[in-house]
Amino acid sequence: MRKFRIGEMTWSEFAEWLEKVNSIVLIPIGSLEQHGPHLPMDTDAYDAEYVCNEVAKRLLNDVWPLVAPTINYGVSMHHMDFPGTVTLSPKTLIDMLVDICGSLIKHGVKRILIINGHGGNTPSIQVACQIIKYRHPEVFIGTDLMGLAKSVKEKIFESKEHDIHAGESETSTSLANREKLVKVKEIEKTSKKPFKPELLEIGRIPSGDRIDYYAINVKQISELGYMGYPWKADKKKGEKMLKAYIENLAIFIRKLCKSQTQL
Ligand SMILES: [Zn+2]
Repeated sequence: MRKFRIGEMTWSEFAEWLEKVNSIVLIPIGSLEQHGPHLPMDTDAYDAEYVCNEVAKRLLNDVWPLVAPTINYGVSMHHMDFPGTVTLSPKTLIDMLVDICGSLIKHGVKRILIINGHGGNTPSIQVACQIIKYRHPEVFIGTDLMGLAKSVKEKIFESKEHDIHAGESETSTSLANREKLVKVKEIEKTSKKPFKPELLEIGRIPSGDRIDYYAINVKQISELGYMGYPWKADKKKGEKMLKAYIENLAIFIRKLCKSQTQL
């Protein structure tokens, strides 16, 4: 069977893949940060890696993507009031990504997609992508955080707002991909210590428009660390969500790798 995890390959196997295939390398990235009283701290990293592995298996005898080792830490400064959370500074993450992608590109990799499990990483990943593209215009470098399943997500989940952290969708996907680590009894308790959605609405004016961004500190908004409605979570919803995302990601990767257009 073909290998798809770079860490499990020998250098000569990787060299052969480069010479004969050279389709795309996926880099999963997550975080080590509090996920409320009910989800494990490595949820984002686990989910990103899970999705990459499933997509790679699906396309193994097709375009044959490879999966790089997961970056298990991220930018989590807004969660640092909760014990166990570890944060990188944005600069460290940018440098790491530029170094990792730069190494892959030096060996001849032409396409890299960073699969991100944590919103706090997004600005740094985007900056890294800009730097890499500036240095290597011939390379495709991009990132996604469930963007390819936005419309499906809206259909599956009840929460139309504030499903930000360890809420309905994330709890559902955790129930779907590693139920044993979800503390179901703690979910019931979350509803008794609600977060403060009004603090997420400060940026909004009566017309419904809102400013693009303001920084938050999670502890000020939620004593238990979650933002959203975890008690609405459901394993079936999570399975549907993961299935749809993996399918859409596979469609995109296939399209990108088969395309003759250079971006
Ligand atoms: Zn998360």
